Amino acid sequence: MKLVSVVVPCYNEEEVLPMFYEEIIKVTNGMSEKWPELTFEFLFINDGSKDRTLEIFRELADKDKRVRYISFSRNFGKESGMYAGLKNAKGDYVVVMDADLQHPPAFLPEMYGHVKDGEYDCATTRRVNRKGESKIRSWFAMKFYKIMNKISQTEIVDGAQDFRFMTRQMVDAILDMSEYNRFSKGIFSWVGFKVKYLPYENVERPAGTTSWSFWGLFKYSLEGIMAFSTAPLAIASMLGIISCIIAFILMIITVIKTLVFGDPVAGYPTTICVIFLLSGLQLFCTGILGQYLAKTYLETKHRPIYIASETDEIYRSKKKNA
Ligand code: UDP
Ligand code: MG
Repeated sequence: MKLVSVVVPCYNEEEVLPMFYEEIIKVTNGMSEKWPELTFEFLFINDGSKDRTLEIFRELADKDKRVRYISFSRNFGKESGMYAGLKNAKGDYVVVMDADLQHPPAFLPEMYGHVKDGEYDCATTRRVNRKGESKIRSWFAMKFYKIMNKISQTEIVDGAQDFRFMTRQMVDAILDMSEYNRFSKGIFSWVGFKVKYLPYENVERPAGTTSWSFWGLFKYSLEGIMAFSTAPLAIASMLGIISCIIAFILMIITVIKTLVFGDPVAGYPTTICVIFLLSGLQLFCTGILGQYLAKTYLETKHRPIYIASETDEIYRSKKKNA
């Protein structure tokens, strides 16, 4: 027998959850018929939702004993949700997918087909286009992947998603990366293993709203760069060298000018400009240093990645005792 854990991080998903559950049950039942060795567990993560998400989890746990859940004490972010799911999944295989049906469960049989014989360790979808997304957003995304792949040794695949069917071996490798600042696109790629990419056309959410704003995505991309590259730290030295060269050239020009034309007192405005420019550069570079320092500071605190306030186990035992 092989157990497949389906991990689903949820934040305010009351509207799509019932639809999602219906879909996933349909698909997984089909898979159990086709491959009788497969059994499933569904591990939902409530990432501090403010709506009825947790109540829906309880209802699902009541009617389906394969449903497990972990409810966070507050919103910790999707990365923490995925970590909690991977950590608590018991399966020989683990699937990570969104609750909003943008990761169609219909892909699961094909994904299992790729990992079941050990040909691949992970099957995932990869967006082939960015239909239904604004032009500016696509442009920024394209630039992000370009820059990221230039400055980082870890390959970040454009269009790759957090929809993954993984073997236990790969999941354990991911769990070994216990960092607090989790950029999973980088983590999935950093651990390596053989990954099968399935082409996929973006689908719209059937209900609910995305929790990503443009600004949120922008900050997330900076996090990604800092988590998987130290190239920005080199900016300070580069700029330092460039300004030294410029200063040296200016010095020579000034000496020659003074020798040839004499020395009229001038250049006060230029001096001010140069002071502004250089102190600006210095502050900018100190800022970058500060960002890395801040990340290091948070890492050294060794804070937990998530805190659970309720799980299906607690709920079930309470109900039994009541
Ligand atoms: N999500 C989460 N915590 C958050 C934000 C989102 O667990 O703080 C979940 C959300 O419920 C969904 C998945 O992460 O299952 C993807 O979120 P969303 O659809 O908002 O992102 P998008 O698909 O637009 O990238
Ligand atoms: Mg979504």
